[in-house]
Amino acid sequence: MFLQGKRALVTGSTSGIGLAVARALHAEGAQVVLNGFGDSQEIAALCEELSASHSAANLLDVAAIEAMMAEIGDVDILVNNAGMQHVSPVDSFPTDKWDAIIGLNLTAPFHTCRLAVPAMKAKGWGRIINTASAHSKVASPFKSAYNASKHGLDGFTKTLALEVAQDGITANCISPGYAWTPLIEGQIPDTMAARGLTRDEVINDVLLATTPSKKFVQPSEIGALAVFLCREEMANVTGANWSIDGGWTTH
Ligand code: NAD
Repeated sequence: MFLQGKRALVTGSTSGIGLAVARALHAEGAQVVLNGFGDSQEIAALCEELSASHSAANLLDVAAIEAMMAEIGDVDILVNNAGMQHVSPVDSFPTDKWDAIIGLNLTAPFHTCRLAVPAMKAKGWGRIINTASAHSKVASPFKSAYNASKHGLDGFTKTLALEVAQDGITANCISPGYAWTPLIEGQIPDTMAARGLTRDEVINDVLLATTPSKKFVQPSEIGALAVFLCREEMANVTGANWSIDGGWTTH
């Protein structure tokens, strides 16, 4: 329970990886603030399970981010995890999807970080963990906005790490390979259409084709890595981009 007394905001934590990270931080005693969309009864049940509060802020709206951060107050651990995907060739990529993906995956973490860092500096302690992706290191076709946003998030995180290196604050990316969550489930039909494949072919020949372990990453494994980065012994680990991808990006 080494995170007792620490407050953690995990964006996009009503589902998938963010929820697993929230559960892992809670298990170590952190006071967790959830964020994201979903069924109100399910979110209420999650808040009860994790003794957490919840912000429904839409992270595509800067004013909503500012209101959320003001309402929460100081956070010691900031996990920028909310993200979205769209699969389409560049020449037919919907421009509104491009803007939304860059907005949620890259611009929203800039806003939460700029708002959270002053209190972390004042305390001389902070942990910023950004859920990037294997697609922050390598590209796949038909994911131009996502790949651009995640490469950008890696660059932003490195820059921030340098700026706060003397303030007791670390900033790192966690970069999962394919983890079985609603985000992955949702892109299967579009990938079937974009590549002319069946569902099984998408899973085996596209999603797991580049994964040497031939296994999906478990969200709980990502939660464990996030907790690890919060340890005192990790104080000198900053500006790093942690792959958790079954060996994908070692190719
Ligand atoms: P998910 O779809 O299961 O969860 C996304 C979360 O973001 C949900 O809580 C949702 O409500 C929230 N969200 C969506 N739009 C929002 C908005 N406008 N404002 C606030 N919250 C919003 O997705 P996931 O697979 O758990 O992905 C989480 C993160 O992990 C994303 O950044 C994603 O890019 C990254 N990632 C996922 C995988 C994977 O294989 N699942 C791999 C690498 C990286």
